Amino acid sequence: MKTAAIFSLLLVASLFLMNGCGESTNQSPCNKPNISAGTECCLDQNNNGICDGSYGEIVQSKSVEDNFSNVTGFKHWGHMPITYKIENEALEKQINLTKTAFSKIEEEISGLVSFKEVQEDPDISLYYYITPKYDYDRNYIYAEALITESNDSMNLTIKGEITFYAGGLMCNTGYPALEVHEILHLFKMPHSPLTNSIMGRYAAETSADCKITKIDPEYISCLKYIYSNGELEKYTIFKGEVKGPCYFPNVVYEEESEYGCNNGWYQSVTKGYCCPNPNMKVVNDICVQNIIP
Ligand SMILES: [Zn+2]
Repeated sequence: MKTAAIFSLLLVASLFLMNGCGESTNQSPCNKPNISAGTECCLDQNNNGICDGSYGEIVQSKSVEDNFSNVTGFKHWGHMPITYKIENEALEKQINLTKTAFSKIEEEISGLVSFKEVQEDPDISLYYYITPKYDYDRNYIYAEALITESNDSMNLTIKGEITFYAGGLMCNTGYPALEVHEILHLFKMPHSPLTNSIMGRYAAETSADCKITKIDPEYISCLKYIYSNGELEKYTIFKGEVKGPCYFPNVVYEEESEYGCNNGWYQSVTKGYCCPNPNMKVVNDICVQNIIP
């Protein structure tokens, strides 16, 4: 084996000498199904450009796995369980809230979505701080969720991370609202304008008047659709009309044109937004009924 490697090295050297100008460098000196790896050749039977059995290949084959490929048009994770790792030291109550959040989601999505703690190479990395963080407007940030790796052509989420700054702040009801909210962001669930929605931009983050006890039905329905691989919850009904899966009637979309809102939506009293009902105003990106005294 060693002799063969040395022989091919010599062959490579002589090929370059013969060509001189170096234009042939992108042509592999290794015979198929071998490919060049550094100064040597390695086997690449599945022809994916990565040495068989190498770390890079393991990572790649894992990242392209998609058990929910019937679902098109919605960014999703490709496998279950989704693994997570607590990456730094955290308060016990922070860890407990996070773990409760994972099991609440599992339970509410009827086990179609599941999570598992791992010590290495997690899908979701979790970080905790007890010091506050502020945005540019000096608003307190309780947590941030970020999809850090995705495969856009396959519509796959591959890796994500969540950072908590709240120090274990908890919803009045005992429901881990902030944690569930952030985890659902890694499932690409949009914000809701309803104050007591799990995806309300602020509701989930303030413990004082938090009334949240569960995930709203439209998010459950969407997650069941995606993670049943398109078998469940294909249709939703809104205002007597049959809509497709993952329909979020309450989500506020910023108005894109000056010509008004899409069907079923109404111009808000506050300029520039579309809301699900007439005569609503937008406060902190949330549509609320405008009460005229
Ligand atoms: Zn959010």
